[in-house]
Amino acid sequence: MRAHRHSILSATRSAAILFGFLAAATPVAAEPDAAKALAYAAVERNADEIATIGDSVYYFGELGMQEFESAKFVKQVMESIGFTVEVGGAGMPTNVWAHWGAGKPQIVIVSEMDALPGGSQTPGSIEHKPLVPGGPGHMEGHNTHPGVAIGAAYAVKQVMERYNIAGSVAISLGPAEEQIISRPYLVRAGQFKDSDIAIVLHIGDNFAAGYGLMNYAAISAKFTFHGKTAHGAVNPWDGKDAVDAVELMDIGFDKLREHLRPTYRAHRAITAGGIQPNIIPDYGQIWWFVRDASMPAAKETFDKLTRIAEGAALMTGTTHEYQIDAAAWPQLGLKSIAEVIQANIDAVGMPQWSEEEQEFARKFQAAMGVRVVGLNTRQTPLGQRGQSASSNDNGDVTWVVPSAGLSFPASVPGISYHNWQAAVTPTSTIAHKGMVSASKVLAGAVLDFLTKPELVRQARAEFEKATTEMKYFAVLPPDAKPPLDLNKETMDRYRPEMTRHYLNKTVRFN
Ligand SMILES: [Zn+2]
Repeated sequence: MRAHRHSILSATRSAAILFGFLAAATPVAAEPDAAKALAYAAVERNADEIATIGDSVYYFGELGMQEFESAKFVKQVMESIGFTVEVGGAGMPTNVWAHWGAGKPQIVIVSEMDALPGGSQTPGSIEHKPLVPGGPGHMEGHNTHPGVAIGAAYAVKQVMERYNIAGSVAISLGPAEEQIISRPYLVRAGQFKDSDIAIVLHIGDNFAAGYGLMNYAAISAKFTFHGKTAHGAVNPWDGKDAVDAVELMDIGFDKLREHLRPTYRAHRAITAGGIQPNIIPDYGQIWWFVRDASMPAAKETFDKLTRIAEGAALMTGTTHEYQIDAAAWPQLGLKSIAEVIQANIDAVGMPQWSEEEQEFARKFQAAMGVRVVGLNTRQTPLGQRGQSASSNDNGDVTWVVPSAGLSFPASVPGISYHNWQAAVTPTSTIAHKGMVSASKVLAGAVLDFLTKPELVRQARAEFEKATTEMKYFAVLPPDAKPPLDLNKETMDRYRPEMTRHYLNKTVRFN
């Protein structure tokens, strides 16, 4: 594997030197292949650095809004390659925004690097063996995202400097994607106001460009009821039962289900359900997720839910309030941008998996009882990704900046995320190879947008049309503040033990 990688590297490097030499006196438009060869070579040369970024963030294993070590680490790396880095924007201490270059167009890579509760796992072990029992960990591979983004950004910078290309490249790593929290706040704070194109980056088991509506809209809200306590046997008639209101809200929504669009989803957890049976509870709370294929549809159902809450309060003589914790638009991917990404996927191709890696994947799949298909060896043709019913808060970005998605092959097909199994491979050579290929694709796509103004204009026109048909509106109330204490308790509990696993490696791009 290693020898293989190095042989590719030296071949690409000599090609780049040759092309670079030939191209030095020529504008980039005349030498697009040379520009990309230079970018690919920069990525190849730094394959170990890209892998180290991913691995370091894996061992930080930080939950949403608590990505302090991860943010500090990527800031240092990005500053070392000459980027200007702002940590803490939009009122969130772990929000990362980095940029290099000046002026238009600005191409932004949008991603995240948070982990999941209970995701701690010993990399490479296909038996459940947490590194820190009960601790959080990267069971969706978000740790690979900053490695890919920084690798691509470094390569793009090399090419921009060599060919004097105008414009700028930015990286946005938003906190707490797993709780679909931060992007509406970033949009509200104007984080993307100068961006012309956004490429939304996510790990997968395939190489694919996404367009159309790619996720579901989601609104997360807690409804709290307040009543009056009384003795359940002696004077229940003096009580006002807040948990009765919670139950009636649940039943009320069940009656509504028949009359909703077939695309809707709604699920709930009762987060305060009483004290003990002989006390009439004065406090009850129910937490709802309402989703649909579009935000206007989700909002319509949510508005009905708020009326049901009013009804439940009325029936029980209680009072209530609700708080929207998160609201995410579905991702709007534009075909014109996806085509550019796809062309770069086709140019770079799938990672060359070794027989060892394929064998590991098959063994892993067999052990987990999923289809034994090994690793994907072919990229996904354009237009073959449907709309998923899950949600990602980066959707909001795609309604203010022309965007499309890039999914890269760095995990084992059939091993589902949000499960400790998915934490087995995010530091493996499978992940590392996928990251390197993804960095090349990303760099190639960013360079296309930087050097071909007609592509940016075309995307803008498609965006204008799509957002005239459906207009973005903020679902978060204007006074909503990001929940900075989210996951703090959990991180505080596990961090001391997790610290022992930190890699403490230095990344030096060259
Ligand atoms: Zn994710």
